[in-house]
Amino acid sequence: MKLGILRERAPGETRVAAIPDTVAAYIKLGHAVVGEQAAGMAAGFSDQRYITAGAEIRDAVALLNQCDVVLSVQRPGQEVIDHLRSGTVLIGLLQPFIYPELAVTLAARGVTSVSLDAVPRIARAQSMDALSSQSTVAGYKAVLLAANALPRFFPLLMTAAGVIPPARVLVIGAGVAGLGAIGTARRLGAIVRAYDTRPAVKEQVESLGATFVELTLQQEKREDTAGYATALAADVEAQERALLSEQIRESDIVITTAQVPGQRAPVLVPRSAVEAMLPGSVIVDLAAETGGNCEVSVPGEVTQHHGVTIIALKNIPAMVPLHASQLYAQNVFHLVRHLYSKGELDLDFTDEITRSVCITHAGEVCHPTVQALLREKQAAAAVNGEGAHRD
Ligand code: NAD
Repeated sequence: MKLGILRERAPGETRVAAIPDTVAAYIKLGHAVVGEQAAGMAAGFSDQRYITAGAEIRDAVALLNQCDVVLSVQRPGQEVIDHLRSGTVLIGLLQPFIYPELAVTLAARGVTSVSLDAVPRIARAQSMDALSSQSTVAGYKAVLLAANALPRFFPLLMTAAGVIPPARVLVIGAGVAGLGAIGTARRLGAIVRAYDTRPAVKEQVESLGATFVELTLQQEKREDTAGYATALAADVEAQERALLSEQIRESDIVITTAQVPGQRAPVLVPRSAVEAMLPGSVIVDLAAETGGNCEVSVPGEVTQHHGVTIIALKNIPAMVPLHASQLYAQNVFHLVRHLYSKGELDLDFTDEITRSVCITHAGEVCHPTVQALLREKQAAAAVNGEGAHRD
């Protein structure tokens, strides 16, 4: 089998789907690899390093013409889609639950598409879990972005000119990104508190040297059987917001990462809480992609509100391109090895991992969630169409 590594075309994307080390690993498994010219350049990997690892370098059209499997980070744009051949396997972070229409286009072209953002969070799939690996990067970088924007030190400093107290950091949501942020903020010497609706994470928070904030909320069920957070009822979320406001006011930095899978991010930092923070304070809202945890965040932007800097950037892993690519490339490698465990593509739909990641195959959209999203969109379009007709 021949694998192709695409150069990313999305603005600001610096990551790459395979690095020289994983190229060598694919070749060791008996596959051939073609890299697009300059595919890894923005992440720090020259074409020469890919060639040394055993890859050929070609332009995009030649690569798409000859490769059986095409590896990418982001979903492809039209210029790539137009050259995808029937039977090609496309593997990337395709965001099928946000852009289900792409699945229709890929199915029509006969492309088998596999999305890493659909990898189930089960122990067996951990090595393929790109959302987690990229969240680790985002949690780390969020703290550095905050430290850079903060007009004060992080650690306690005892100098001849006086004592400087440590910065106070509050992390809301202690999942993968939140724990990454806690660890980084602690290493920089801040006093860190963290809150999550799942009491199960208290121990992990404390093991990183942070204090777990306990809030008494009137809702017992806060996680499902798989350990994911469940949404809070509206009145309980309002109660949470009110209780958190005091913690927010006392913080120099707030990093928010709260998410419930498949839902809009809960708004946990209301405008009033931002306005109660000291000028110069910083909020990093990692949930920007799903609407944001902070009421005044502008997704994709860095803004100021009442002297508080609010960082709601969307593709933070691309700001650490070398290691973000290294981790992502490993995730892709493990997924390819899983799908090609018999040497050729083996889509066993009784397997939970395969069933979860495969979005299109044999000319059809085969993922039930994507099918349901498309049906919903069709129904909404039909209703709108009827309305327009009546008008
Ligand atoms: P995760 O599922 O591991 O963690 C989310 C945490 O939020 C969970 O521990 C959950 O219990 C908690 N939570 C849910 N509702 C809550 C509430 N009401 N109050 C407090 N905590 C609550 O997710 P993750 O992988 O850590 O990702 C976190 C967020 O970071 C996601 O929104 C993800 O899209 C985002 N992210 C952003 C970037 C970026 O570049 N901006 C990069 C990676 C991840």
